[in-house]
Amino acid sequence: MKINFNVPPHTGKELEYIRQCIEAEKICGDGAFTKKCNAWIEERTGTKKALLTTSCTHATEMTALLLGIKEGDEVIMPSYTFVSTADAFVLRGATAVFVDIRPDTLNIDEKLIESAITERTRAIVPVHYAGVACEMDTIMDIAKRHSLYVVEDAAQGVMASYKGKALGAIGDMGCFSFHETKNYSMGEGGALLLNRDGYIDMAEIIREKGTDRSRFFRGQVDKYTWQEAGSSYLPSDMNAAYLYAQLEIADEINDARLKIWNCYYEGLRSLAETGKIELPTVPEGCVHNAHMFYIKTKDQEERAALKAFLGEKGILAVSHYVPLHSAPAGKKYGRFAGEDRYTTKESERILRLPLYYGLTEEQNELIIDLVKEFYAG
Ligand SMILES: *Cc1c(COP(=O)(O)O)cnc(C)c1O
Repeated sequence: MKINFNVPPHTGKELEYIRQCIEAEKICGDGAFTKKCNAWIEERTGTKKALLTTSCTHATEMTALLLGIKEGDEVIMPSYTFVSTADAFVLRGATAVFVDIRPDTLNIDEKLIESAITERTRAIVPVHYAGVACEMDTIMDIAKRHSLYVVEDAAQGVMASYKGKALGAIGDMGCFSFHETKNYSMGEGGALLLNRDGYIDMAEIIREKGTDRSRFFRGQVDKYTWQEAGSSYLPSDMNAAYLYAQLEIADEINDARLKIWNCYYEGLRSLAETGKIELPTVPEGCVHNAHMFYIKTKDQEERAALKAFLGEKGILAVSHYVPLHSAPAGKKYGRFAGEDRYTTKESERILRLPLYYGLTEEQNELIIDLVKEFYAG
C-alpha cells in the first residue's frame, strides 16, 4: 500500500478538451480554452481582468514589471514562503524584506509590517498560506497610508476568500498557481489578476513579447508592433484545456477537498486537545479551500520520527518551506526585518499530510489512525 502526498487533479474531460484544441488547429496561447479560463476567474473572483500565464512565478514577475520595481526598491514579504515570491522582485534588483509570521496561520504578521517600511519600500506581498487569508483589512490600510502596492501571492488561494472577497482579487494585483501540486492544475501554469484600472493594456503587452498583439486580435489596430520590453507569459491552449476541465467542476473539487480536510481535523482533534499536536487555525472571516492539511509536531525531531513512521507504512507526509532568509540566495538578496520569533521555529514543526482530489475515505481514516498510533506508542 502506498499513499502519495499529492496526485495531480483530473476529471476525465481533459483529453476531450485537448482533442478539441487539436481539431480546431489552435494550440498556441489565447485560444478558446484560455478565454474560458480567464472568464471563469473573472466571474468567480470579481477581478477586473484575469490573464492565464505560464506559472504563478511568471504572473508575479509580471507584477514586478508592471509596478516598475527596480534596483534599490524594497518589497515586504514573509520568509516562510516559496522562492518565487522573492524571485520575481529580486530579479528586478529589489531587496526582499522578510517579516515574521503569525504562529496561528503561518501568514505574515500584519502587526509587524509597518515597522519594516522604509523610504525604499514599494510593495507588500502577502502570501495566503494553505489558502487561509492574511489579515487583508490591516494590510490594505497600511498600504494605503504609506502609498504602497499590494501584490497577493494567492498561489494556494484559488476558491478561498476573506470577508466575502476572493483571494487574489483584494490587493492591486493577485497571482494564482495552477501547478500540478495546487488545487486546480494545468501541469505548469498560473494567472495574473488585475484588480485596478490602468494596468490591463500594459499587462497584455508584457505578456505578448512586448507587442500589442491582443489589441490586433480584437481588431483595435490593423497591425501589431513592438510596444514595450516584454516577454512570453502565455500558456498553450492545450494546457488551458486541461485546466478548464477542472474549473468547470471547481465546486465539486473544492467540496471533496474540504471533506478530507474536515475529516483530518475532526479525527485528530483529540490529539490536539491533549496537547500532543497543534491543528491549523482558520480565523473568522476566512473561508479556506483545503489546499493543505498540516499538523504541528512538538519539534523537528518529533516531526522526523512521525514522517519516518508514516513512510514505513507507505504514506508520504512532507515538511514545507525552508525559510528564505536562511537560504544562500535569501542572504544575498534579502534581509529579515525585526526578530525571527516564529518563522524558523514553526517551519521546523510543520508536517503536511496527503490531500488530493481522489483521496478515499478509507485512506483518510487510515492516515488519521496511524498518526494516532504514533502518538499512542
Ligand atoms: C506554488 C507556489 C508558487 C509558484 O507557483 P508556480 O505556478 O509553480 O510558479 C508561488 N508561491 C506560492 C506561495 C506557492 O505555493
